[in-house]
Amino acid sequence: MASGEGRRNHHTLVPLAALISREMKTEKMEKPTVRCGNAAQSRKGEDYFLIKTDCQRVPGSPSSTFSAFAIFDGHNGNAAAIYTKENLLNHVLGALPRGLGRDEWLQALPRALVAGFVKTDKEFQSRGETSGTTATFVIVDGWTVTVASVGDSRCILDTQGGAVSTLTVDHRLEENIEERERVTASGGEVGRLSIVGGAEIGPLRCWPGGLCLSRSIGDMDVGEFIVPIPYVKQVKLSRAGGRLIIASDGIWDALSSDMAAKSCRGLPAELAARQVVKEALRTRGLKDDTTCVVVDIIPPDAPEQPSTPPKKQSRLRALFRKKSRDSVSKLSKKLSAVGIVEELFEEGSAMLAERLGTEEPTGQSTTGIFMCAVCQVDLAPSEGISVHAGSIFSTSAKPWQGPFLCSDCRNKKDAMEGKRPSGVKVA
Ligand SMILES: [Zn+2]
Repeated sequence: MASGEGRRNHHTLVPLAALISREMKTEKMEKPTVRCGNAAQSRKGEDYFLIKTDCQRVPGSPSSTFSAFAIFDGHNGNAAAIYTKENLLNHVLGALPRGLGRDEWLQALPRALVAGFVKTDKEFQSRGETSGTTATFVIVDGWTVTVASVGDSRCILDTQGGAVSTLTVDHRLEENIEERERVTASGGEVGRLSIVGGAEIGPLRCWPGGLCLSRSIGDMDVGEFIVPIPYVKQVKLSRAGGRLIIASDGIWDALSSDMAAKSCRGLPAELAARQVVKEALRTRGLKDDTTCVVVDIIPPDAPEQPSTPPKKQSRLRALFRKKSRDSVSKLSKKLSAVGIVEELFEEGSAMLAERLGTEEPTGQSTTGIFMCAVCQVDLAPSEGISVHAGSIFSTSAKPWQGPFLCSDCRNKKDAMEGKRPSGVKVA
């Protein structure tokens, strides 16, 4: 493990003690408090969620703690959703080089998310079970929020001042023209169900398979152009903090992002999640599994949250804003940070070569151990196939440069890009 990872990003390994002391120094900078809640109403039993607030970047160092949250909305059964819930986090962490400092770790995260999603998909498919799932996976580390998603389980951010932004894109064929074009170009057919008499009904679907989503995990019985490569967005919140609402389409088919955010402002996370579900059911009834996770990223000096909802007018303030006995300079400093969410990273391409990027040659490639950038298996020097070999999408990269893929992952990459006939025949 160590040799491979040392090679992959040519980082020198930092001794654990040095890392921990570095973490302690960063710790002096105030970290926000993370509070979360969840609520769900089930109809088909195919929605799953993940809340894990005790992950550590550096094992044994509490100051390197980060949190992971996710929603998995399964279809055609719940096996893919359960498998993804149990394995995705480990696969993402397994794709991160060890011994990285906090900033490097956060920088390496988008690529590790891509590898982790593809590995989870590949492993689940190898079990030969049908079913598929959306995955909206969120890492909160300090003020930095990183979201990776396939499918249509949205994650929104509500910041102080009432600005609501979406941190995911919906991979629905009906609403996403780019994805429609990609699927068609890769050999899929996009159309509606037709009933007797020729009338077309329902949303746009992809054939073979008839899935409404253009990206998912699992779904071995649809075309391989339904890819598990996530849209990834990384943002840094202002010191005012913010609230994340992560939910399955049972919520989003009933409520707009704004409506969901507004419906629960001022409530602590646990009550907020319940309120969002309640509001969705009130609007649309229980038509689908409806699951919601609310995550509050709260400045360390924020007043304690009330356990009962405050009066309507003061809801938002009670959550995020410091009382006005702040000194004037302190207050204006606070206000200058309000609403400024710094965008650190955004990429949605479905092309693995673009997402895995390039690696500088380290001079060790003839002697060092290669590792597949997706599934992390060791490769003999003759086995590794550059992710860029034969690719028209990365003209600047050399075919002998990493990252490298094992032959299995290389086959998967070609199939996802429509360069190899999908394993499924149209009936
Ligand atoms: Zn591989």
